[in-house]
Amino acid sequence: VPLPRLSHIEWPFLASLDSRALGGVLEEIQRIQRCPSPQLFEFQFQQLQLVFEHAYRTIPLYREHFESVGLNPEKLLTPEEYRRLPTIKRQDLQIAGQAMHSSQVDPSHGDVFTQLTTGSTGRPVATLGTGVTGLFWKAMTIRDHIWHRRDFSQKLCVIRYTKDGIAAPPYGEHLDNWGVATLNFIRTGPCEVLSITSRVDEQAKWLEYHKPAYLLTYPSLLLELARYFKQEGKTLPGLRQLRSFGEVLDTRTRAACRETFGVNVVDNYSAQEVGYIALQCPDYEHYHVMAEDLLVEILDDNDQPCKPGEIGRVIVTTLHNFAMPLFRYEIGDYAQVGHPCPCGRGLPVLTRILGRQRHLFVLPDGRRRWPALELDAATAGSLPISQFQVIQKTLHDVEVKLVAFRPLNADEERMLRSHVTDWLGYAFNVTFNYVDSIPRNGGKYEDFRCEVTPEEVAQAKA
Ligand SMILES: [Zn+2]
Repeated sequence: VPLPRLSHIEWPFLASLDSRALGGVLEEIQRIQRCPSPQLFEFQFQQLQLVFEHAYRTIPLYREHFESVGLNPEKLLTPEEYRRLPTIKRQDLQIAGQAMHSSQVDPSHGDVFTQLTTGSTGRPVATLGTGVTGLFWKAMTIRDHIWHRRDFSQKLCVIRYTKDGIAAPPYGEHLDNWGVATLNFIRTGPCEVLSITSRVDEQAKWLEYHKPAYLLTYPSLLLELARYFKQEGKTLPGLRQLRSFGEVLDTRTRAACRETFGVNVVDNYSAQEVGYIALQCPDYEHYHVMAEDLLVEILDDNDQPCKPGEIGRVIVTTLHNFAMPLFRYEIGDYAQVGHPCPCGRGLPVLTRILGRQRHLFVLPDGRRRWPALELDAATAGSLPISQFQVIQKTLHDVEVKLVAFRPLNADEERMLRSHVTDWLGYAFNVTFNYVDSIPRNGGKYEDFRCEVTPEEVAQAKA
């Protein structure tokens, strides 16, 4: 007699979406993480076959997409065939709209809901989720708590983007629990939320009042807070761990947080469209891909898989979304591939996550450049700057916005100018623009921004 199970879900094992489902998935993924990588890959392909057949059968747009490269579900999908599929871009999702929705989601997968991705530029993208994708999201949230040995009884503080007027300073908003992932599953301490629109001094006062064990916010904000507390000669007693999401976390921020607060930062990498992509390893400062739920590829400019040490585009395939499956979706981020992790988990390793594709600069000859470099400590220490943003305005012009304690003198400007042109690998015309503050974009703070239009890029290549 075959065991009961949810239709179309063979891996990880999931019998139903009832109250025991979350515990079941957690147990499964805690076991699977120890599988050797080749075995994981095999399981991923077994599950992928089911999504592939479903998409072929119920989504005409995908059927065309598959047939255009000679794929049909009459035979098993091989990795070679899978890699023939062209990647799908954000723009493709916007154009396709409902044509990428399945008309036949099995009722056992729970309610279908729409999730809006609030990108910091351009139109938002709407995708669909189900009870099953929601369950995996919860499981990965709790996996992160387990991996990083959090004490559920403690207080969590969160500073994030909120709707206008919600969680405003000075008080923020009080919640009785850490959120929907743990609700009705694990009893937790309270959670305090403050809007990102607050000033750093308001955030500091709020944190000193609440004395959290855990603080979750954007990396750029952690850096501001670390500097502010250091300058004020204060710290946060009782703080056990800092957590970050939503932006690139760099070594400078990790170091500043350790210095001021004496605790580590734990980062995670997720996206609205697909859920958790990677979580920080419990033992190292790199990331493990959530391979039980997503097939993640890192591809170079020639669409070949990157080797350890190389940086490439992040491509994601969802394994359990039967309402709007995504096959080889280019999420718009870059990541560096890592070597297998000494911690013993077979889940693939990403050394670094680099932010959004739109931040890439473009040189006059059409080459793209990733401006991931930062001021070294000596330079940063000798310049009276608290924040900066580098914006490429045209193929030849770059603007540097500065929040400075005083205007830079000619020598300092010359030094910074040469740093910027060195980073970017081209002698751009650099202008300095002194501002009081650098606004966030949808909650995110961007170090680098490229405003060169696609038309100008096309000209550069011509
Ligand atoms: Zn590891």
